[in-house]
Amino acid sequence: MENRSIIIIGAGIGGLATALRLAKKGYKVTILEKNEQLGGRLNQLKKDGFTFDVGPSFFSMSYEFKEFAKECEIELPFEFVELDVLYTVHFRGSNKKYYLYKDLDKLAEQFTDIEPDFKEKFLKYIQNCKKTYDDTANIVIKQNFDSLMDYGLTLLKVNPYHLPKLWRNFWDQVIHYFDSKDARQIVSLVSFFLGRTPFDTPAIYTLLSHIEFQYDGYYNVKGGMYKIIEGIVSELEKEQVTIHPNVEVIQYEHQGGKISAFIDQTGKRWEADGYVVNADAAVFRNSVLKDPQYSLAKLAKKEWTMGFLTFYLGIKGKLDHVDHHNYFLGNNYEDYAHSVLQDPGIIEKPYYYVNVLSKHNSECAPEGCESIFFVCPVPNLKFKSDWSDREEIVQSIIDDFSERIGTNINDMIISKTIYTPVEWEKMFYLHYGSGLGLSHHVMQIGGLRPPNYDRNYKNLFYVGASTVPGAGIPMSIIGSKLALERVEKMK
Ligand SMILES: Cc1cc2nc3c(=O)[nH]c(=O)nc-3n(C[C@H](O)[C@H](O)[C@H](O)COP(=O)(O)OP(=O)(O)OC[C@H]3O[C@@H](n4cnc5c(N)ncnc54)[C@H](O)[C@@H]3O)c2cc1C
Repeated sequence: MENRSIIIIGAGIGGLATALRLAKKGYKVTILEKNEQLGGRLNQLKKDGFTFDVGPSFFSMSYEFKEFAKECEIELPFEFVELDVLYTVHFRGSNKKYYLYKDLDKLAEQFTDIEPDFKEKFLKYIQNCKKTYDDTANIVIKQNFDSLMDYGLTLLKVNPYHLPKLWRNFWDQVIHYFDSKDARQIVSLVSFFLGRTPFDTPAIYTLLSHIEFQYDGYYNVKGGMYKIIEGIVSELEKEQVTIHPNVEVIQYEHQGGKISAFIDQTGKRWEADGYVVNADAAVFRNSVLKDPQYSLAKLAKKEWTMGFLTFYLGIKGKLDHVDHHNYFLGNNYEDYAHSVLQDPGIIEKPYYYVNVLSKHNSECAPEGCESIFFVCPVPNLKFKSDWSDREEIVQSIIDDFSERIGTNINDMIISKTIYTPVEWEKMFYLHYGSGLGLSHHVMQIGGLRPPNYDRNYKNLFYVGASTVPGAGIPMSIIGSKLALERVEKMK
């Protein structure tokens, strides 16, 4: 049994999952988190009698959680709820609402008027996405890379048929299969889940279409997404992992090519044999390690994901005609997608996502009420730093939503909380307030992403959205396994 000590910096999903894997291997684990409440972006807001998911509201690749539980020899400490309908999509100016069923016939039926051979086209598209997934997931996504050469050699193992998808974009891949505007937009929507647009997400990520429509789908958690955090924390308690909230790491000491201690905001030294950083892997190297490879100038040259304007409404009254997960799109998708990362003016005609958590979790709102969560993609702080217009923008979204659902919710609002990229940056130290950290640009994935080991210190490792394999809850779970492998090889 291992008896070495490990300190984890950050209690996001990646940090907590790594902590459990390490504790199960016999490491003595301590977690330091700057915030009072654990969970990082996978968080919860309780206010005025309402409960809201703060960031993630659903997840895919449920098999990664099952594998995680098996490897940690636990029962999963929370309950999945499979979504079918996956979500609904509304276009501005049209009364038609698309239901994204997992059943292909039911899905295709909705395209009869505009793309009569949708089913055949979809099958061809999804077959290609499956091949992309099958030929890359295990080889590239679930691997550690020790060097650029190692990454290059790994790419050589991938069927060369897929290599053009690294340079082609998601949109070009999709339009090759579908002709109608609606089908193209709906199928390419998933690229927004990676924090960028179909025009700057590599086509290799069409593997996500295979995951969402065919292989796995999407899941909610009974009682809200924060049950994932509460569940993992309860397992950590059983393993005597010590968790210290309100401890922010700000400095470090090193000796002989190793970190000898991290120092918190009170000057307290925290020593261990090894360290795993769950704070953003690029930001931490800049702000705490002062690594010149991650200077502010170098961070500015990297591609960051978009910001999110999120707001949380408690309303008195029920919205029975609104589904659980909904996308409200405009009617200028291509212009919008080309501008949303940089042009603050784009928010005048917002695209947004609405989640009614209380729909399937009645305990999350007082009786006769709903808790509603809005996410609106916006330029990050590099392109829009002034958010003094936050109330105005939120009001325009509430008005648009009211009009499109045919119910004016303005007089029903009894609780309102708004987080702009300014708050997201402050809460979790997200560079430019970018919601998902570093983008999945072709030059920032795999062996080109900030690695999960430190080039200067042999006992320092990373897990989370801005290191390998990338952003999203399932990626953090895979990342925790990759981080464990690194720690296990620590000399
Ligand atoms: C609005 C929004 C919606 C999203 N929706 C989804 C979704 O539906 N499905 C999905 O799969 N993903 C979604 N994501 C992405 C998902 O939330 C993230 O990819 C994931 O939660 C990131 O986890 P992480 O392990 O990288 O850690 P983080 O959540 O980033 O946690 C890192 C922790 O480190 C702490 N920390 C930072 N610096 C220090 C320091 N110096 N000292 C101590 N502690 C420190 C932070 O406070 C934080 O708690 C969404 C994200 C956002 C913002």
